[in-house]
Amino acid sequence: VLAALGVRHAPAQRGWIQGNCPFHDDKNPSWRIRVTAERYGQHHCWACKAGGTLAGLVAHVRKVPLEEARGWVGEHAEPEEAPIPEVVGVDLVRRDLKPGKFRLPPEVVIGPLAGWVTPARAYAQWRGIEAWQVERWGLGYAVDGELAGRLVVPVWRSAGVAASYMARDFSEDRRARRYRYPRAEEGADPTVLFGQLNWPDEGARDVLVVTEGALNAMAVERAVGAGEAAQASLGGSGVHAICALKIASFPRVLVLTDNDPAGNVAAGELGAMLRALGRRPCRLRLLPGEDACDLARADLRAAVWRALGGDVRL
Ligand SMILES: [Zn+2]
Repeated sequence: VLAALGVRHAPAQRGWIQGNCPFHDDKNPSWRIRVTAERYGQHHCWACKAGGTLAGLVAHVRKVPLEEARGWVGEHAEPEEAPIPEVVGVDLVRRDLKPGKFRLPPEVVIGPLAGWVTPARAYAQWRGIEAWQVERWGLGYAVDGELAGRLVVPVWRSAGVAASYMARDFSEDRRARRYRYPRAEEGADPTVLFGQLNWPDEGARDVLVVTEGALNAMAVERAVGAGEAAQASLGGSGVHAICALKIASFPRVLVLTDNDPAGNVAAGELGAMLRALGRRPCRLRLLPGEDACDLARADLRAAVWRALGGDVRL
């Protein structure tokens, strides 16, 4: 837009573009414009105090009425195409990560559910996990070491190559933390999502359901059907920008985070990132305290498709 308007400017930095003010004869760049998803195009000048919206800027520079400027913005400021699939894994490889450094702790046992030790198998079944999901998602457990007494859900980069894990306690020990994630020095890769292992090829992607935890993702998978919607889980900590890019490679995204403060923050963060990438995610809000794992399959299935078909937008 700025190029089309002939405004000289520096490259965007931390959500702002700085440039020579289009409202006064500016010798040094004293004007800046916001390029974040929120308040996109809001601008102001420290020297002459001019400022306003993107449409106001266009009206001033092109000397047209505001209404016409709005139309011009609509034509020029829309993302031309989602710049997603090509960049993932090419430009966005984090330089500070050593690929392949992460290893699942050696005590983790991966294998078919029938061969699991009884407490691990009983816990998995109590959470509704089925034998085909244990194989499809390469789930495991540990009876020794730091992860002893935990169901281990590896986050696979690709088959056999783990990037991280989530370990859910199934011991009766009340002092145990419910979830454990890798410590910083284990070198887990936060840009890999649980779920992406089984995503369809880019051309075949349709619906993605985003949950906070892998157990919820598997509950959705059982309810909706493995072939009907793909899965992604955000894990315990925030939304990584690269994860948002990956999620935006699906044309339809349903956000199914818990209806609690943490879940609402995660949904808000992800929603803003996806909208900045030109996507319009839907949110399915369960009742407060209600978990996807607790719902009857038919109810969860109906809720997912209604949220996707309806107008419930983030
Ligand atoms: Zn100015």
